[in-house]
Amino acid sequence: MHMTPNGLLQQILRRVPILRSQKAYIFILMLAIGVIPSVVMRAGILESYEKRAVSVRVSDVTTQYRIIADHLLNYNYLQDTSSEVINAELEQMSNLYDGRVMIISGNFRIVKDTYSISEGRTMISEEVIKCFHGESTSRYDKNNGYIEMTVPITETGRKEGKTVSQVRGVILASASTDSIVATMELMRRRALLLEIVMTILILGLVPFLAHILTLPYSRVTRAINEVRDGFTDREISVPDYIETEHIADAFNQLLGRMRQINESRQEFVANVSHELKTPMTSVKVLADSLNQQPDAPVELYREFMQDITQEIERENKIINDLLSLVKMDKTEAEMDIRAVDINELLESTLKRLRPIARKQDVEVVFESMRPVTAEVDEIKMSQIFTNLVENAIKYNKEHGWVKVHLDADHQFFTVEVSDSGIGISEEDYDHIFDRFYRVDKSHSREIGGTGLGLSITRSAVLLHRGSIRVSSVEGEGTCFTVKIPLSYIKAGGKGRS
Ligand code: ADP
Repeated sequence: MHMTPNGLLQQILRRVPILRSQKAYIFILMLAIGVIPSVVMRAGILESYEKRAVSVRVSDVTTQYRIIADHLLNYNYLQDTSSEVINAELEQMSNLYDGRVMIISGNFRIVKDTYSISEGRTMISEEVIKCFHGESTSRYDKNNGYIEMTVPITETGRKEGKTVSQVRGVILASASTDSIVATMELMRRRALLLEIVMTILILGLVPFLAHILTLPYSRVTRAINEVRDGFTDREISVPDYIETEHIADAFNQLLGRMRQINESRQEFVANVSHELKTPMTSVKVLADSLNQQPDAPVELYREFMQDITQEIERENKIINDLLSLVKMDKTEAEMDIRAVDINELLESTLKRLRPIARKQDVEVVFESMRPVTAEVDEIKMSQIFTNLVENAIKYNKEHGWVKVHLDADHQFFTVEVSDSGIGISEEDYDHIFDRFYRVDKSHSREIGGTGLGLSITRSAVLLHRGSIRVSSVEGEGTCFTVKIPLSYIKAGGKGRS
């Protein structure tokens, strides 16, 4: 199977959990910081020491041979090598620098060799030729541990008032670098020892340090576990690092949100129980009072039975609304999105509601600016329209009106449901969408409200990624505006094609 380097790294990390531990990273980092510089420095220092030591040696030896070169000329050594003084001097130099000295005369002949091997032979090499041109040379043979140098034997005289120099011969000398190599070896050993000590120290100290440094994270885990296990219901606090503080903050926010959800769930359950109990209590009271009057007239029975039926209908309505609400809470995967003719949907909704409006003596008007087709869930959209128009009829006045206005641009369609009703005060704007919230509980109950309608409406609007707004003047009327995208937008943010 082909695998990218990144994929391979991920696999290794997954297989070897220790490599994913922060402690391991701290350990590797510290080891690298502690050891790498000393390794690099060791190499760098040794190399620069070697260069410097060789150049000092070259300049020392060259200076000495320059002095000897003058002596050679004074004793006319190139012609006659019998001078004891010079021979002793050359021998001394040879011993001192543990190397060979050869004196080469003008015709490239070796006139003197301290090793007495090559005397009388001819020596033509690049260095010697260069030196005959007046230039000193030096060459470091690292492998064999010596430096080879040439020093010109220059005669200076005056000719026609000018100073004239002429190279009469060349000193070809070698000097051993054993002492430099020995010093370097010593330094190398010392540095290695230092590295070993550092490594042992780091190996011993870093696991402990890594443990201390990651301790706050263990504290965060422990604090979270305590909350999970119910030992504490307080907020957690681990201020050791800014990072742990951020984790604790995020966790506390999550905790707060969960508490909120839990509270609202409890409140919802309490509200549901209360709402469901109310019709049951009424039914029980009605039935009990009939039971207590065995000879109650038939008319009373009929009247009470009608009331009981009404209460059962109400119970039914609450249960149906609750089921709708639960459905809205489900994920968008359950949305049945199709292209729906919104004009038609509104017309049919209004047709269903007109009889109720007529009963309340409310006139319903539909105003459409253009034909609109949108990608929506038809049942949920119908529920939105029904709830808004039903409310506009319910919370209206005698001889009132309800106006439904439909318009669209290239992105959204907008439905405005306005009425000439009792209106809603500004303080109630935020609450009317809450579950079971009713501005006037008894009035709403009287006209069959459950307090769930707007909550269902808002959930349905949000499922379509739309918005709902309300504006109202108390005593004059209310206007709900619903704005829905024409193309359904999936959670990923892409429109349907
Ligand atoms: P309900 O079943 O009580 O009508 P809703 O959730 O539909 O519940 O509405 C919540 C409350 O908002 C209602 O009880 C009512 O007080 C207020 N309300 C809703 N629509 C209107 C409206 N068009 N005019 C005045 N008040 C309204």
